[in-house]
Formats: sequence, C-alpha cells, structure tokens
Amino acid sequence: MIYVDNAATTRMSQTALDAMLPFLTEGYGNPSSLHSVGQAAAEALQKARETVAACLNCAPREIIFTSGGSEADNQAIISAAAIGARKGKKHIVSTAFEHHAVLHTLQKLQKQGFEIELLPVGSAGTVTAEQVKKAIRDDTCLVTVMFANNEIGSILPVAEIGAVCREKGVLFHTDAVQAVGHLPIDVQAQNVDLLSLSAHKFHGPKGVGALFVKNGVPITPLIEGGAQERGKRAGTENVPAIVGMAAALKEAVEALAENAKKMTALRDQLIDGLARIPHSALNGDAVNRLPGNVNFCFEGIEGESLLLLLDAKGICASSGSACTSGSLDPSHVLLAIGRPHEVAHGSLRLSLCEANTQEDVDYILTEVPKIVERLRDLSPVWHDLTNGKRAFIL
Ligand SMILES: *Cc1c(COP(=O)(O)O)cnc(C)c1O
Repeated sequence: MIYVDNAATTRMSQTALDAMLPFLTEGYGNPSSLHSVGQAAAEALQKARETVAACLNCAPREIIFTSGGSEADNQAIISAAAIGARKGKKHIVSTAFEHHAVLHTLQKLQKQGFEIELLPVGSAGTVTAEQVKKAIRDDTCLVTVMFANNEIGSILPVAEIGAVCREKGVLFHTDAVQAVGHLPIDVQAQNVDLLSLSAHKFHGPKGVGALFVKNGVPITPLIEGGAQERGKRAGTENVPAIVGMAAALKEAVEALAENAKKMTALRDQLIDGLARIPHSALNGDAVNRLPGNVNFCFEGIEGESLLLLLDAKGICASSGSACTSGSLDPSHVLLAIGRPHEVAHGSLRLSLCEANTQEDVDYILTEVPKIVERLRDLSPVWHDLTNGKRAFIL
C-alpha cells in the first residue's frame, strides 16, 4: 500500500509511540494529584510543554494543550472575538480558503453580529501583506490567515502579515496545522499572537494539539471545569498523547530540512509527470508550496472515481480535504483559486511524507495516467469535450 494522504493524517512515528507507552501503562497518574504517581505525570507534562515551546520559540507558559487543530482554531478565534467585542470591535479579516475549523467558526461569529471579510486568494492561492493591510480597519479585532493550505499546499507570507498586524495593533492568529513540523516556525520572528497546531499531521497521535498564546493575550476557555492549562482548558490532560506529540514534534523539527529536501524532489517529479497528462493543471503555485503537496485537476473526470480506482491499485490519495470528501460540493479551496465547478470536481491531492520513496513515485506515475485515460473513455463529459460539443477549460 502506498500512502500519499499525509495532509489528512500521518502514521504515528515509533519515537512517538515509545514515548507514549509508559504513560499508557504504569505512568497513568493524574497530573493534578499530589502523590508521586501524579507528580511523575505532571513532570512529563511540563517536559512536553517545554519541548513544544522550544520548537516554536516561545515560553512553555504560552502553550495550551488542546484536543487538536480544530479546537485550537476555535479557541483562538472565539477568544479574539471576545476581546474585540469588549472594545466594540467586530470586524475580522481572513481568507476564502481557510480550513473549515476556521471558516465555520467565523460563520458562527457572523451570526452573532461580527463582520467577516474573506480576502480573495488568487490563482496561486495566497494573500499579500498589502492586501491584509488594506483590509484592516479601526474596528478590526482579528486577522486569521493560515500558514499553509491543506489542499493546494501554498505557503502564505505569515511573517509579513504578522508585521502588518503588529503595526496596526490587531491580533494575528495563524492556523499552522499543515506547517508545524514541515516548515520552520518561530512565533517571535513571524510576529504571531496565536498559532494552532495538531500532532497527527506530523506523525504524532490523533486527538491532541496545541494553541500558542502570546503572553498577555487574554484567552477564554471553551471548556469550563478544573484549573488545568492555567484555567484556559479544563479537563484531565491527555498525558500519553501530549508526550507523544512532543516527541513527534521534536523528531520532525530535527529532521525538517533533510525531509523537506527529499520530499521536494519527489514532489517535483510527480508534478512534472502528472503535468504531461493532457488537459490537466497543477493547483497552486509550482514553487511556493509545501514540500509534500501535489494537487492536480484533470478535466472530464470525477475525483471520487479516480480515488476508488487508485485505491484498487494500492494508492491511498485524496481529492481534497478529508472533511469535504463525501459531500457533493467541490472543494471551496479550488473554487477560491478560480477553478470552475466542472474542473474542481476532477481533483487529486497526493501528500507525501519522508517515508515515501522513488518507487512510490514511479508507480504513481505509471498508474495515474492509465486510470485518468480509462475514466475519460467512460465519461460522457469527456466525449462532449473531444467532439467539440463542449469547450475545454484546461
Ligand atoms: C487537519 C487540519 C485542521 C484540523 O486539525 P484536527 O487536529 O484534525 O482537528 C485544521 N487546519 C488545517 C489546516 C488542517 O490541515
């Protein structure tokens, strides 16, 4: 089986598993307990916090552990909105191609009277700091712009956007779930106030993540209860998962440059090879993209059929984000970069990790063109295109 769906989730590393096991067995204490078993867990929790903080270049007290990227996004945005509302500021700037954890939270706020401005992302799938600067008003309380897009892999100019926000005195949140462990992160140099990350996107366990909250930003809890996470996130900490996340993150950050180099070389072979398929187009920018991300549209086919046939050939891929597959609407990301509905339906995302090999790439490049051709042969739309009843878009 060739797994090229690492943007959806990754395999947990052996390092993460080894780090977790003691806390799933004899180290089961509650970090809030005062006895030695509890205190051993509390110590592991503190060490994990220090490790995660070091990987982001922040202080350990600026890290809140959460249940994942979605919770971190929700908490960051809802907190910033609450801070804004107290000052009568209810304008939020974001982009049209954020993850649904961001977009749906913004939609909820819109119903509560916030004004949401989603910046267009253009065909390359990015926004400039200049666009953000122009959008910021006196009543803007938050700018939330993702670090890298989960579907098309484009990387946004977070440091520049952060600098603009700082100059204007507006809080800046970035959903860095696709970036952490894959791109260099430095919350200080990148002028970030709030940053979300998720362990299962960098070979850590599922159901655990973190929110970086810059010292002094008054974050509000989403979950009320005990005093865990300095009162900002109640509930007994998931110690094994948090310890696993820290181990996975340290490992990913240490191997980041080496992994990126390897994955970029494989990615570019895939891009070159798939671009030879007639009436296809790369989604996103060829250069400014995550090392492991490949995303194409093939005219005249349905992405879902392509996925099923690829799966039958032992290739696990995606047609977009896992959250939208299963729904009939084409990806909001592909629509945002200007792909028409007809074309957006025929998309394929291959997302690599450092475990993928040259053999994987060679196999994918022999199978995908054959399957695309087979599906096109069966497609009434393709026949309309080839006999001139319908105009090609790509
Ligand atoms: C996966 C993902 C999320 C959600 O993270 P979970 O830990 O699965 O909740 C949020 N944003 C982006 C960009 C993602 O890729």
